[in-house]
Amino acid sequence: MTTRRSMLAGALALAATPAFAAPAAGYTLRNVRLETGYDRDGDDVTATRTALFEVKIADGRIAAVRPAGSAPVVGPAHDAKGLLMLPSFRDMHVHLDKTWYGEPWHAPLKRRNGIPGQIALEQKLLPGMLPGLEARADKLVNLCQSQGTTFARSQCNVDPVIGIQNVVHLKAELDRRGDTFGHEIVAFPQHGLIRVGLQQTLRDAMKAGATHVGGIDPTTLDGDMERSVDAVLEIAHEFNAPIDMHLHEPGESGIAAIKRIADRVETEPALRGKVTFSHCFSLMSLSDAEVTDLAARMAALGMSVASTIPLGRRVMPIPILRAQGVKVYCGTDTVVDFWGVFGDCDILRKANLACQLYGWSDEYALGQSISLATGGPTPLDAKGQQAWPKPGDAADLVLVDAACAAEAVARLPPRRTVLHQGRLAAGAFA
Ligand SMILES: [Zn+2]
Repeated sequence: MTTRRSMLAGALALAATPAFAAPAAGYTLRNVRLETGYDRDGDDVTATRTALFEVKIADGRIAAVRPAGSAPVVGPAHDAKGLLMLPSFRDMHVHLDKTWYGEPWHAPLKRRNGIPGQIALEQKLLPGMLPGLEARADKLVNLCQSQGTTFARSQCNVDPVIGIQNVVHLKAELDRRGDTFGHEIVAFPQHGLIRVGLQQTLRDAMKAGATHVGGIDPTTLDGDMERSVDAVLEIAHEFNAPIDMHLHEPGESGIAAIKRIADRVETEPALRGKVTFSHCFSLMSLSDAEVTDLAARMAALGMSVASTIPLGRRVMPIPILRAQGVKVYCGTDTVVDFWGVFGDCDILRKANLACQLYGWSDEYALGQSISLATGGPTPLDAKGQQAWPKPGDAADLVLVDAACAAEAVARLPPRRTVLHQGRLAAGAFA
């Protein structure tokens, strides 16, 4: 009988064994539960069918998937004991560089003077937070992994006070974690871009390893929508890099910024599929018909939206965005810092929250909502055909004690085994 101690010892031994770190011949996960289709009653999905499989993993990828017991298992193997396998989760908007996570608890001060007040506060706090940035980010990445997340797009401050130092330090930490955690870094001009003449510093941040050009509220914070947007796009062109634009600004000016960028993307094909709007609260000011039109345009241009699934008097029109084909990703944003304290890096919880907000409570809607957590992949496609995992897919996965994705989203079970490119990132093998 396997005891918890022997399981942990086994997991630690595996994690520490070079042969496991880069298994030439790979290994097999036995008795993995995978979704195989839907049961239907007329148009209604009544249940998700599953079966047990053996999943071979080699060179960080899914090498083969076959029904359990269909052939002898050769080589190293772990028994998943019927746990459900899901694609691991992607946190597409988090600030790993500025957090108090891991330090003794203290809540942020009461906000004064809105975002300008917060920026003034940052300017005081950030230099003192630079020492220890790696250690705090390390703890935050551990938290992400324990929740089943193996990839994060981290916003990273580039500003007149800290320069590119946060990018340099965060990149060093994330590179060190590369074996078990994938990442992108957005050079994020939190304190403004053209308003503070930060264009060259943003370029320096890209040269220092940021992967995405960031932007921020072009009218309300940066003071000149067209010049601000154009500066972001110019740098993106220069580095042939994608864009992730923080767009908190509500109403007309936010919509104007979306349309300005859409106009540019339409005539500059190099930008297609490369623009994400983070938050994008201005969409909440539009009627359903207006959102539908704009979303169709955004989808055609390959634009995506990263959302924390915010709670408030208004809700983000995420169902319309998804219906029109806009890719919607979820993010944690802040964890414990001077902006907020409610983040827990649980992206599966964001899918759960979306289901509660938008009334997705039936088996089909719950199950398909897992794509908000995975950044796209679903075990079953919209028609109920097996879509994941397939040979060649990255072995980025999580094992949970659930009957199907719908139950996982609804009940948020502990993440028992978390793999990134076939390597144990968190938890243990059963
Ligand atoms: Zn943010």
